[in-house]
Amino acid sequence: MTTRIQNGTVIDPASGTHEVRDLWIQDGRIAAPAERADKTIDAAGQVVCPGFIDIHMHEDPVDAEGRLESYDESSVFACMLHMGVTTAVAGNCGENKYHPADYLDLVDRDGAPVNVAMLAGHGFFRHEAGCRDRYAAATAAQRDRMAGEIRESLQRGCIGVSFGLRYEPGMDARELTEAAAGVRGTGKLVAAHVRDDAAQIFSAAREFLDAGLQLEVPLQVSHIGSMAGFGQMAEFLALIDEYRKNSPNIFCDCYPYDAFSTGLGSATYDEGWLERYHCDYSVLELCLPEYEGQRCTEELFRRIRREQPDTMTVCHVMRQEEVDLAYRHEAVMVASDATLDHGRGHPRACGTFPRVLSRYVRSGVLTLDDAIRRMTVLPAAQLGLGNKGRLSEGADADVVIFDPEQICDRATFTDPLTPPAGIGRVLIGGKPVLRDGEILDRRAGKAVRG
Ligand SMILES: [Zn+2]
Repeated sequence: MTTRIQNGTVIDPASGTHEVRDLWIQDGRIAAPAERADKTIDAAGQVVCPGFIDIHMHEDPVDAEGRLESYDESSVFACMLHMGVTTAVAGNCGENKYHPADYLDLVDRDGAPVNVAMLAGHGFFRHEAGCRDRYAAATAAQRDRMAGEIRESLQRGCIGVSFGLRYEPGMDARELTEAAAGVRGTGKLVAAHVRDDAAQIFSAAREFLDAGLQLEVPLQVSHIGSMAGFGQMAEFLALIDEYRKNSPNIFCDCYPYDAFSTGLGSATYDEGWLERYHCDYSVLELCLPEYEGQRCTEELFRRIRREQPDTMTVCHVMRQEEVDLAYRHEAVMVASDATLDHGRGHPRACGTFPRVLSRYVRSGVLTLDDAIRRMTVLPAAQLGLGNKGRLSEGADADVVIFDPEQICDRATFTDPLTPPAGIGRVLIGGKPVLRDGEILDRRAGKAVRG
């Protein structure tokens, strides 16, 4: 099967290509021009570029029958596809919804809306090892068990290890290096939602980077907008530069919003959070149908946190100009941190990539090529994926075709699942999976093993 995408502006930051030319696909891979095509796609006026790679998101759950909950419009992987993402890296912040290596097997068995790579989440294995108190230190036996399970998950194809130090206050740097010991010598990624944010981001980032560097693998500081976007961003980026002088494979990711989202019961909302963010309860939205469109109060916060700690929240506390500053830094990738609870949650799940391509490119914060670079080859390199995030011959034919004038996010805090505008087509492994906002195939995605 040979496909020719013609008349589009091909942008491939990996090779520096930015020109109107044809792109050929044969048997699922980018190919040299052929004599004839079985299928022709006209992309006049559109950009043709590698499918986006979301290096930081959170997967759909698995149902009681052991199937992915990924096949309807409210699934987070469907949202990924609507945004032009073709490979999603799940299992971030130390959290897995299911055993991460088994999850990859499910993706291979049933397919998924996008390709799925998995990080082995330390928090998941910490819990499995019997640590039920997140504020308590793990025992030596529990640390050994975590290390063994994480090592096995890496051997079964997990692409790296993630930590949520914020969510497991009882862990220390030794637990981090011991738990992730299996990555040594593999070149696989270690990502972390670090222990603290705002004024405490500097010591928190140093803790992770100092411990992580001992593992001699790529390191990723997660969603820095919600870690340093309260007035600390310039100084935080200077700290990243300081580390990158000796360790150039330290990178960060960021989503383009001035509000974050997490569970109400998480340690983020432990005593002291109002002082940390210099705010009151009204910055908070509870993602429950009965409180839709309302801001929180102290009474509501205390009651729902006690009775329904799994409730998702959106917290409107970051500064937009700090998020903008993050995107100007060479080591910052675009990532969504998408997480949805039965279709409810933050619009970043369905808006991130188009939002960067509209807001940041049209306002001149980023060039189009640079924005695409931060969505494709940069995460691919950090993940060691030589066949993704590029359009060179032989690369996987994961492609997005979009209108650079029309592309924009339309998901909002009240309607977080509204798909973006301007994404014409998405192909995964050469297969058409989305056309003009309509998903054509929800099972073309495969497990991506590292
Ligand atoms: Zn996180």
